[in-house]
Amino acid sequence: MNILSIRSWLYVLIVGILQSQHLHAQFPKGKSKHHLQALEYIDKRTPELTALSDSVWKLAEPSYGEVKSSRLLIEFLNKEGFTIQENVSGFPTVFIASYGEGKPVIGLYGEYDADPNASNGVVPRRAEIGQGQYGHGGGHNLLGVGSIGAALAIKDLIRRKKLQCTIRYYGATAEGKLGSKTYLARDGYFDDLDLSLYWHPAPVTAASTAPWDALIDLQITMSGRKVNVIHDNESTVNVSEAFELLINELHALRPMTNQGIKLNYQLSQSSHSLNETPDTARVTVRIQCARQNDANQLFENIVAGVNRVRDQSKVTTTMKVIRAMHQFLPNLKAMETVYQNLQWLGPIQYSDEEIQFVKQLQQHLGMPIEGIQDKIIPFSDQTGREHVYGYASDIGDASWISPELYFVVKSLPGVAMHQWPGTIFSGHTIGHKGMIHAAKVLSLTIIDHLQSPELQKNVREDFERRRRSYRYHSFLSDDPPEITKSVDNR
Ligand SMILES: [Zn+2]
Repeated sequence: MNILSIRSWLYVLIVGILQSQHLHAQFPKGKSKHHLQALEYIDKRTPELTALSDSVWKLAEPSYGEVKSSRLLIEFLNKEGFTIQENVSGFPTVFIASYGEGKPVIGLYGEYDADPNASNGVVPRRAEIGQGQYGHGGGHNLLGVGSIGAALAIKDLIRRKKLQCTIRYYGATAEGKLGSKTYLARDGYFDDLDLSLYWHPAPVTAASTAPWDALIDLQITMSGRKVNVIHDNESTVNVSEAFELLINELHALRPMTNQGIKLNYQLSQSSHSLNETPDTARVTVRIQCARQNDANQLFENIVAGVNRVRDQSKVTTTMKVIRAMHQFLPNLKAMETVYQNLQWLGPIQYSDEEIQFVKQLQQHLGMPIEGIQDKIIPFSDQTGREHVYGYASDIGDASWISPELYFVVKSLPGVAMHQWPGTIFSGHTIGHKGMIHAAKVLSLTIIDHLQSPELQKNVREDFERRRRSYRYHSFLSDDPPEITKSVDNR
């Protein structure tokens, strides 16, 4: 037997061993030994990843206040050889960790903030840990560490010169509040990405093709001098009149709204005397649309309306965008690849002990006692949906800069997320399994993309076809984020 045949025999043996550890999976066309090596690597690092996730679970820090959690992840990634950039875009707990050099640049997203009033022990019943405390109801400890698992697997292949790319981990905060990723997008941190990947724990496993909504919250303030309507000249233009003009402008936009275009506003005036007009009036507006272009159009119409009011009334008007999240632009070609990988790995399997645990909680909650079972939701093209989804997320902005994909992995049974029942599972083996599964799907999809020029071309073409002529621009001002004044969007 010559050296070459010994080597190929060894390869067959190694691949055989690796495959035997993923017996539920077949080795489909397009997969290489690097895919198996990534799976094997994640299996090897599972105890450390689980311990890291549990540490973040125990810390359970609020959005913008994840000081210890972000520090833990930064130190972990730093030890793994990642270069760290901290305090990104004015957020003290947002960081970027990078490994490798040059193009392509692949982005992964992590979060690690907990939910208020969601603390609970890892037991199948309500068992608050300290009244009103934070807990990882949304499983962001899993989200953050699952993406780290993928970053490590890709790093290992780069280090061994099996892959050529830069892998970048964006540690972010407050997806449903201010949305730190929208500030990162504004500041150009996604500009050189070739592909980015986001996952979220969920009660189901699915490769999502749903476009999340575009959302813009803005505040219009009109100010002038107070007018005493009894003694002052009645023809004096005042803030009250400007306020009425603005309401007329907004009202005139109502016919534009439909199932895919939503507009709402709230009014406030401040005055101490009914004899006086106020010196300040404020209107807070929310635009929420299924399509980014509709949100852009509505925003432009409002700006034009505010300018007309200013010119007519001579009051001072200021407009401030409080929050702006782009529609999530789905990428069908990338999501097909995710779906294939979900199928290749197969549904997550649960032990009798895990099923019993879930049944006990279901009984406690008065729900049907069904236990837990993972089933991959069949792939469907939902990109054409015309009505609003009801949710916006800060993952949307990056999807207009370069192709981005999004999927969910079952990490809990069908109980309330971002609340205490969710917290139980983000500290439980059921959540750990979801996290490790997600790390594998992320790694496989990145390797698919890196190894197939055809897939790269198809994903890029899908992206260009959907974004058409629109080029990303942020609606946010250049001001630093007002992280204490956030509004929850969930
Ligand atoms: Zn979340």
